[in-house]
Amino acid sequence: MQSEFRNYQNNVISHSSSLASIDPTQRAWIELSGDAIRYNVRQIKSILKPNCKFMAVVKADGYGHDAVFVSENAIRGGANQLGVATLQEGIQLRSSGIKAPILILGNIYSKKDLLICFKNNLVPTISDMKDCILCDEIGLKYKKQFPLHLKIDTGMSRLGFDTNYFLKNFRKIMNLQNIYVDGIYSHLAFADEDNALDKKSFTQIQKNKFIKVLNKINIKKYPQITKHLSNSAGTLLSQDFHFDMVRIGLLMYGYSPLSPFLNNIKLKPALFLKSKVSFIKHIDKNIGVSYGRRFISNKKTKIAVISIGYADGISRKLSNKLNLLHNGIYYPQIGSITMDQLMIDITNSKNINVGDTVLLLGSDGNKSITPIDWADKSSTIPWEILCAFKNRLPRVEIY
Ligand SMILES: *Cc1c(COP(=O)(O)O)cnc(C)c1O
Repeated sequence: MQSEFRNYQNNVISHSSSLASIDPTQRAWIELSGDAIRYNVRQIKSILKPNCKFMAVVKADGYGHDAVFVSENAIRGGANQLGVATLQEGIQLRSSGIKAPILILGNIYSKKDLLICFKNNLVPTISDMKDCILCDEIGLKYKKQFPLHLKIDTGMSRLGFDTNYFLKNFRKIMNLQNIYVDGIYSHLAFADEDNALDKKSFTQIQKNKFIKVLNKINIKKYPQITKHLSNSAGTLLSQDFHFDMVRIGLLMYGYSPLSPFLNNIKLKPALFLKSKVSFIKHIDKNIGVSYGRRFISNKKTKIAVISIGYADGISRKLSNKLNLLHNGIYYPQIGSITMDQLMIDITNSKNINVGDTVLLLGSDGNKSITPIDWADKSSTIPWEILCAFKNRLPRVEIY
């Protein structure tokens, strides 16, 4: 047994040391620009209401960009707080040494998890009276007020106190001695969909409902409470939506949720998805390419095999729809995207070689490919494109 165990360990060691010798750009990878994150945070801050705080939303591993990397750069760019979805995500940031306030946007509802939250200096979102009481019990036991944000539902119908229930209970909540109400917030459901500047839009209705609740609880008496409502889309609309803080995800990564693009702000994409040409071949006319033969050549065709596929997070729904960039020229992707590889038509190229790098997302000179382009082609949204990327893609910091 002893020797078997040793052999196993040796295997692991030699295995991992050969892994370490692989160039992360050997096959397919994501390049990340901290400079772009910092630049975007500064740009967004320049349009905020005076004294409005900036929460950098880094849930889902920083929208696929690496949450620690994004958090550090966002803070350097001037972000005041961080937002994550889960307890694990919050703990990961704390264990990498991040000190900024962290709000958990998802619902934490058991006493055990609320205690973990408290001990890791993470701030929970509370949507129910019973959870306020659990937090109060924890604060009492540890003789320290438990900071939390209260959420109210103004029309998203996801998390949040029902507004009437909130109004009925607000006094009771403020009388709990062992919690600290650090924030009150709500979430917009329609800001990237409707013409929100129209007075009758759903986004205006939500904002008015939020203001009405704040007025009814006489919020002026509590200047220490941070009021917040807007995601990226709400933030772009007008300063009327900014309150004391905005919660920014998509914009910080370099993409606008609003179309047509509101050009009062310039952004840089922080993510570049790249892969290598692993093989080149020539096929005749009338030859099928890839599974299902969903591409048939109509002439002699030169093909490059690119070493990235749906197991890396590129939806198979994008088959036959992508364009890849090589030296400033677009090449069409052909046939079904496979698990680990995809093909492009390079018939018109002269100078593409095995080992060359191609760009799938990002910009190259004046040409660019964005997650918004991919989302339009696969009937989804850019958020889903970004957080689909898998850990098989090494993240490489560029500048
Ligand atoms: C994800 C999220 C955000 C950020 O949304 P973006 O549209 O990416 O800016 C803000 N608030 C809450 C509650 C969220 O869940």
